[in-house]
Amino acid sequence: MLGEVDKQHERGHNSNLSFGKAPCCYLSREAGVLLGVLMLGVVVGTGLLVHYLAPHTYPNLRIIDRTTPHSQDLEMDAFPPPRQVKRADAMTTSKPHSSHHPSPPSPTPPTPTTSTQPEVMKGQKEESLSGIEQNTETEGKQEMTHEERMEWLRLPLSLKPLHYLVKLQPLINGNFSILGYVEVEVEVLEATTNFTLHIADIITNNNTVKVMESGVEEVGLGREVVIRRHQYDHEREFYIAHLEEALQKGNKYTLSMEFIGLLNDQLHGFYRSNYRNANGTEVWLASTQFQANDARRAFPCFDEPGLKATFEIHLARQTNMTTISNMPIKETRHMVGAEGWVWDHYYTTVPMSTYLLAFVVSDLAHNSTDLDDILFRVWTREEALPQANYALDIGPRILTFFTDYFNLSYPLPKLDMVAVPDFPALGMENWGLVIYSEIGMLYEAGVSSAANKQLAGMVVSHELAHQWFGDLVTPKWWSEIWLNEGFASYVEHLGIDHIEPSWKILEQFVIRRMQGVFVKDSLHSSNPVIHNAMNGNTIIYSKGASIIRMMNHFLGDGTFRSGVSDYLSTLKYDNAVSDDLWEHLTLAAHRDGILPTNLTVKTIMDTWTLQMGYPVITVQRNNDGDSVTVTQRNNDGNSVTVTQERFLLTRQENSEDTHDYKWWVPLTYTDQAEADFSQTQPKVWMKDSEAQITIPHLATKDHWVIFNLHQTGYYRVNYDLHNWHLLTSQLLSQHTAIATINRAQIIDDAMDLARAGLLPYATALDLLGYLPQERDYVPWWAAFENLKFLKNMLTYTAGYGPFKRYVRDLVLPLYSTMGLDDHLDDPVLDQYKRQKVVSWACFTGLPDCLQHSLAAFNAWRETPHSNNITANLKSTVYCHAIAEGGEEEWSFAWHQYLESNVGTEKDNLLGALGCSKKPWILARYLEMAFNESSGIKKQDARTVFRSVARNEVGQPLAWTFLQDNFDRIHAYSANALKGLMRSVTTSFNRETQLKELESLHAAHKGQVSSNPLDMMEMLERVRHNVDWTQRHYQEVMAWLQHRGYHTTLPTHHRPSDNQRAHG
Ligand SMILES: [Zn+2]
Repeated sequence: MLGEVDKQHERGHNSNLSFGKAPCCYLSREAGVLLGVLMLGVVVGTGLLVHYLAPHTYPNLRIIDRTTPHSQDLEMDAFPPPRQVKRADAMTTSKPHSSHHPSPPSPTPPTPTTSTQPEVMKGQKEESLSGIEQNTETEGKQEMTHEERMEWLRLPLSLKPLHYLVKLQPLINGNFSILGYVEVEVEVLEATTNFTLHIADIITNNNTVKVMESGVEEVGLGREVVIRRHQYDHEREFYIAHLEEALQKGNKYTLSMEFIGLLNDQLHGFYRSNYRNANGTEVWLASTQFQANDARRAFPCFDEPGLKATFEIHLARQTNMTTISNMPIKETRHMVGAEGWVWDHYYTTVPMSTYLLAFVVSDLAHNSTDLDDILFRVWTREEALPQANYALDIGPRILTFFTDYFNLSYPLPKLDMVAVPDFPALGMENWGLVIYSEIGMLYEAGVSSAANKQLAGMVVSHELAHQWFGDLVTPKWWSEIWLNEGFASYVEHLGIDHIEPSWKILEQFVIRRMQGVFVKDSLHSSNPVIHNAMNGNTIIYSKGASIIRMMNHFLGDGTFRSGVSDYLSTLKYDNAVSDDLWEHLTLAAHRDGILPTNLTVKTIMDTWTLQMGYPVITVQRNNDGDSVTVTQRNNDGNSVTVTQERFLLTRQENSEDTHDYKWWVPLTYTDQAEADFSQTQPKVWMKDSEAQITIPHLATKDHWVIFNLHQTGYYRVNYDLHNWHLLTSQLLSQHTAIATINRAQIIDDAMDLARAGLLPYATALDLLGYLPQERDYVPWWAAFENLKFLKNMLTYTAGYGPFKRYVRDLVLPLYSTMGLDDHLDDPVLDQYKRQKVVSWACFTGLPDCLQHSLAAFNAWRETPHSNNITANLKSTVYCHAIAEGGEEEWSFAWHQYLESNVGTEKDNLLGALGCSKKPWILARYLEMAFNESSGIKKQDARTVFRSVARNEVGQPLAWTFLQDNFDRIHAYSANALKGLMRSVTTSFNRETQLKELESLHAAHKGQVSSNPLDMMEMLERVRHNVDWTQRHYQEVMAWLQHRGYHTTLPTHHRPSDNQRAHG
């Protein structure tokens, strides 16, 4: 999966379309009989009958309420006798919303209010619940640690699923229920009297649950195992059939069950969404997002990645729609007794994990091509289909590249890539059916920017890499998810570099992935790459990718590829842990003589995957002049992030983290005389047992040295001040003597070492002084990212004005060279560079930049149907025009948003609408973000909120709004909360803000994210910011002052001051 925002599994969060909140999940006899009759079609092999099952026709149905503190045992007979259902085929004579008879799908969705219970049922419900057994297994769970809880959530080990038959009829144009049937065959690994599997937000009919012993050829002749009672464990999302007799080890059994699910609007499980087509008609569709644990919302299953099985899927649809699943359709059959409905029967899948299953039922359009024997299709809204051409062009070529790279064929006969209008991530690698958000796959030349194109390319490459890493070989458990995400996040670059070499994506890796994750990984609240959590984070993705890249470089390309290929072919259709990968890479390394026989890849890599953080390597020149002493210090301890660490140590005197952080560090280096940056295999290994080593004969005292060539090692480097000064002189005199990536490395290391108090800010900022000569994008990116931190720290201080003037002077030469005249045929990195420098120039208030933005925007307003603003500069131009303008400019952009058919354009506009400087407009915009009837999709609420939070006028508004409306936002989109909190607290650096954040955290524990580390990280970042302000604000101000960027105004007016103060 790939997403800006990690998809969170949030508990206790009910859908807007509710069947009513009540603490159970089962059917009354009435509904049971009704459902039983409805399911008749399944039993006779023709599938489910079509019925409109309006929620209020189920007086006793309940959706699982996962806020219920204890699981309950509920008996079928606990409810009063049912009203009679006359005939299953009564649909032909029924009226809509009849309480007894099914009716055709309704054209409009039922509203939440239709789920209210008839008054008479309330007392009966209470009566019926009086005999509930409490599940004592769950008691005391509040005291569980995170690890214990993760373990407690696991299924018992007694059963192994082998094969599923899943039949689903989603009533997309009805009341959004899903009529379902599942059969799962299991092998018994340990004798047990419980048949336990996952279930969530599903209503079952206990009477339809059957457990049969398999092994009998003829259907229906197997021996039935009697179910003593049914149990629903809401906390763990278990359905448990307690059996009269034990299932015997080695034997096979099949559980079958009918159920009703719900097409929710929460973008997880099997969910619904809608869009307006070219005629302006609202069209509904259903698609899936199962990772990490939401397949259980679509059908009852063994929902853990290690429990692979084969799946036979049947999907019902109306004849004006299509269905897509992981495999091709085997046959389509008419649904007996249901005019206008058919069943699509799919070929049985290869062995796979539940989280990689996918279904799309929609009216989306497609284009296709053939790649040898593989049918390759792209799907999206009909009007957007031309935007899928790029994906259709590169997809098959990337698939071919990975087939060669991994030396292993893609195993399925087809591959579908679908861009759906609502999706919670950028892309999801479902095997044979990759699903994307529109910006993750679509790109329109001339409308979308070069960055949009790169994003679509990278996401496609990422998801296709997963077809091997993740789909073919799958981690045993989520703690090893880095094997999926780290690999996909690394090799996505190799796939794109093959297709688009001019993008220099391997250079971009360092800034896109590695430098980006360095800051997070230097916090106490970081986590190891191997980490027991359901959801990935940037450590898993970007650090995972960075250490795999490091491994690729220290092993060399041939050895790395042959080890990876052996690993994949040995473990295909199976599950793996990191040690399996180490084993195959070690075999390759020893075979090729890359590592000595007494050293394994595991020895090295365990230091990078099992402990968090990374080292800063301090290189101190010795007095003899021609040797250096190298020491490694834990970055998380007292090196680049000393400020954070000291801060935490003083606050956490009882810190339990006494681990001695040391790594196996591959050292590469060159010096001024040699200046050879090409050798990225280590010259020296620094072992995890070594605190200090001496490298002799390196460079004379007046020559610089540089370690970590091309920044292939996942570590920072600090030098003695003399070497820093030599590097600065080199950059100022002839910066190209140092490799491009290493220039970016030096900038990023220097600035972050200063931030941590390990290097004077004067040294780091002096080094940036060469930037006016820099013409390469990657070093500029590193500089801008670090300046962004200073900007965030200074926004609400007296230093903001001088800082802006300093940045303006820094970027002016590049701005003058690049200009605003964008050329889409320029090298992509030049386009990015222009985009960046224009954005920063406008931020500093450079009049030329602002005037051009306003003029371009006003020209568009004159002729709304021909927008001549170049795609690369749209976000900057829109933002500054809206910032400088008023309600008219805002309204114009809003209407353009409503009218646009291009996802990337809509995204640009949503981001820019938050740039207004009018508080009331921003307040209105925040309100709109959390109200779907406003025209802003739920998936975009975070884009809107973030745009306001980033705006210096909007930031305090956004924070107040979040505090005042926390519960409402949580109810609306719990998954988005973490991202909202992060964006609004980025610039927090005052004690009062820290206190407000702490009290919000205290009031809403566990609601921001299911992973407690996320909130700890936010708090730690703000504490760091507060600490930074106390330690370094004056230091940075003094440096600015010294260079003429004054923080104070003169006390006497002198005409010559005008230019400096207002220029
Ligand atoms: Zn991924």
